[in-house]
Amino acid sequence: MPQLPVTCPSCDADLTVGREHLNRPVRCGACGKTFVPVADPGGREPDDLPPRKKKGEGGAGLGILSLILGVLALVTCCCGPFALLLGGGAVLSGLIGLVYRDGRGLAIAGLVLGLLAIVLQVGAMAAGFRLGGDPFNIF
Ligand SMILES: [Zn+2]
Repeated sequence: MPQLPVTCPSCDADLTVGREHLNRPVRCGACGKTFVPVADPGGREPDDLPPRKKKGEGGAGLGILSLILGVLALVTCCCGPFALLLGGGAVLSGLIGLVYRDGRGLAIAGLVLGLLAIVLQVGAMAAGFRLGGDPFNIF
């Protein structure tokens, strides 16, 4: 039997009543007063409520994002400062992804790849500056 949320007018207790009790006097379980519950036109039935997201879910997407950014950063780490942005994104999304239980392995992989790409890029730029040439074209 579907239960409908109603509020006791006497004590403001949140109650649920069966649909068959609507518009009929019921006794409030909290204060004992009798009132007539009416359907809340704007209210939603408990059956319609979306399932609550469990804590710990939602990290897989961030982990995958971090891994993709990390791989891209590593692939492009010899092609200029663009890799720094990708690497930074990989590190950032990896760090955020670490908070979540699922996708943590992916987040760690993305984090490591992103850091590696940044280190390689910074090293390449440093080497380029030392050689006095174009810092983004050392090969
Ligand atoms: Zn009451």
